[in-house]
Amino acid sequence: MKRALFKLALAAAIFSLTAGLAWPAPALAAGDILCTTFPVYLFTKNITRGRDAYKVNLLIPGHLGCPHDYAPTPADLESLSRAEILVMNGLGLETFLPRALKVAKPALKIIDASGGLAPGAADGGEPPARLLLGLSDLAAGAAYEGSRGHGHGGPNPHIFAAPGTAAVMVGHIAEALAGLDPEGAGLYRRNAEILMNDLSAQAAALRRLGAEVNHPEVIASHSVFDYLARDMGFKVVATIEEEDGVAPSAARLGELVALAGTSGAAGTSGAAAEKGLRAILVDPEGNVELARTLGAETGLPVAVIDPVASGPADPPLDYYQKVMAADIDVLTRLFSRPPAAAPRRGAKK
Ligand SMILES: [Zn+2]
Repeated sequence: MKRALFKLALAAAIFSLTAGLAWPAPALAAGDILCTTFPVYLFTKNITRGRDAYKVNLLIPGHLGCPHDYAPTPADLESLSRAEILVMNGLGLETFLPRALKVAKPALKIIDASGGLAPGAADGGEPPARLLLGLSDLAAGAAYEGSRGHGHGGPNPHIFAAPGTAAVMVGHIAEALAGLDPEGAGLYRRNAEILMNDLSAQAAALRRLGAEVNHPEVIASHSVFDYLARDMGFKVVATIEEEDGVAPSAARLGELVALAGTSGAAGTSGAAAEKGLRAILVDPEGNVELARTLGAETGLPVAVIDPVASGPADPPLDYYQKVMAADIDVLTRLFSRPPAAAPRRGAKK
C-alpha cells in the first residue's frame, strides 16, 4: 500500500517536473483560426501567409462592417464551437461575444488584437498589452470593462480604421500567434513586419498631409474616424451621429448647421472656412445622403472615406493598403483645394 502510494507520488512528481520544463507547445489545430471582423481577418490572413496547414476563417460576413449590434446566427455559433483560436478586435467592439462564447471549447485561445488597450492610453506608461485571453476572461468581462460601446463612454474600438493603430493590431496578432505556434513564429513575425511597414508608411503620409494642410477641422459621420484624425492630425469637432448607428435628431442637425456657422447655399458663406471647418467625412456604411444634405446646408464639401470596416468575401492581401491609399488620395484632394468659401473653380465639366 505504502509502496503503491510512493509510486503514485513519484509519478506525480515526474509529471509535474516535465510539465514544468519547456514542454513543446501543442501545434495549432489545423483549420481553425476564426476571426470576428473583416479587418482582423485581413490582418490575420497576411500574418499566416505561407502557413498553409491553418485556414483562417471569418465569422461576421465581410460586407456587414462593424458588429456593434451583431446577433450571431446558428451557423456562427457552430463556427465558434469548432474554433481553437479566435482573433478579435477587442475594446468592446464584439459585444455579442461573451454570450455567444458559451458554445466554445473550454480551451479556446482568444487573441485580443487591441491588447486590451485603447491607443493613446498606451502612450502614458500604461500596463503592457494583454494579447491572450481565455474564456473566463471574457466571461469576467476583462476585455469589456468600461467599454460597453464607445457611445457610452467606453474606449473607441475603431482602431482598425487608421494605419497607425492597425499596425499595432498586426503586431499584437503576430506575437500572440507566435506564442501559440512557435514553429510558425518566424514566419508570422516576418509577414507582420511587411504589413506593418506598409501601414507605418501610410501613417507617415497622413501625418505629412495633415501638416501640409494645416490640421483642418471636420465634422464626421461618427466616431469611426477618430484614430484616422489622430494619425493625420485633423480635428473632429462634431459627429453627425451622437451615438454610433443612431440617426441624429432634427435638433442635432440644426446644431451642426449652426456650428458650421452658415445657412446659405454652398460656397456663399465664409463662416465655416473662418472657423477652420473644412469638410464633412462620412463612411460608406454611414448615412451618406444625410451627410450630403448637411453639406448643402453648410457649404462644406462631403468626402466618403472608407475605414475598412468591411470588404469583399475574398480580399487580396493588400486590400487594406489599397483602400487606405484611395482614402489618402481623397483627403489630399479634399484639403488641398481652397476652403468652401472660395469660388468653385472647374466645377462645371
Ligand atoms: Zn463602428
